[in-house]
Amino acid sequence: MSSPNEVDLDPQEQAILREWRLLVETHYIDDIKRLEGNPQIIHGFEIEHALIEEYSTLKVEFHENPTRTMKLGNRVMREQFEAAMARMRPILRVTRLAPNYLRRVNDLRMRDRNKVVSLDVRINEVSGSYGWVKMAVYECLDCHEFEYVEQRRARERKSPRHCDTCFGKWVGKMESEEEDALPFPPRPNFQMVTEHSIYEDVQDISMSQIVYNDQNKIIHLSEKEDIIGTVSDDLVGELEANQFARINGIVRVQPVPNRTFSRDTRRVLSIDVLSVEILDLKE
Ligand SMILES: [Zn+2]
Repeated sequence: MSSPNEVDLDPQEQAILREWRLLVETHYIDDIKRLEGNPQIIHGFEIEHALIEEYSTLKVEFHENPTRTMKLGNRVMREQFEAAMARMRPILRVTRLAPNYLRRVNDLRMRDRNKVVSLDVRINEVSGSYGWVKMAVYECLDCHEFEYVEQRRARERKSPRHCDTCFGKWVGKMESEEEDALPFPPRPNFQMVTEHSIYEDVQDISMSQIVYNDQNKIIHLSEKEDIIGTVSDDLVGELEANQFARINGIVRVQPVPNRTFSRDTRRVLSIDVLSVEILDLKE
């Protein structure tokens, strides 16, 4: 059985985990212990970016590999919540990013893909919420083992290419020259198991660049410089059209929306939102 928890971590990943644990234990363990709830509640747990900057590995990795670093951070949060008997599902929300992350929508390029940015925007539209399969669990119908396949949003669903267990058995038979060994490896024979797969609730948002002065008065609202983004879990239902916000997130490259031709190579930038800070601005 190949489960995501059994994957061996490299030394750098272990260092990231170690520093996340240290950060949470040093600054937040009392907060976590005070939380009560139930497993249905998704709790957005805010951590200030300045704290991340105090840890040498985290500081660099949050900048260089934010996706992996956030994933490991969420894993540590789940561990810590479990240890403190806080029966909620925590989602790490890194807030108040250092000023060097602040960018303008129209300055973003393909090379910014997978980088962290902060954008000051007006929320134009918020879609209805929908779910997507984040981690699909497949059952091999021949040996009944489960395979876990991580998915990407707005992409074709990936399924396992072969079953490790069945493949291993076939190799064993071939090597021992058993009579009933087939000349070809077994064909994949998988079925997705809906009830074990992991889903995420999301909403798409469209937003436009804003510029404001030090009296918090908006001096420019762009009609053109817009970008789409996606909020998930606890942030679903939190945003409304016409709000002003600083959006912190990771730049992604996506197929052009509403295009299903898999050969279409055109791509647009979007933002996977890590956290939202509502801005109190005057128009
Ligand atoms: Zn199998």
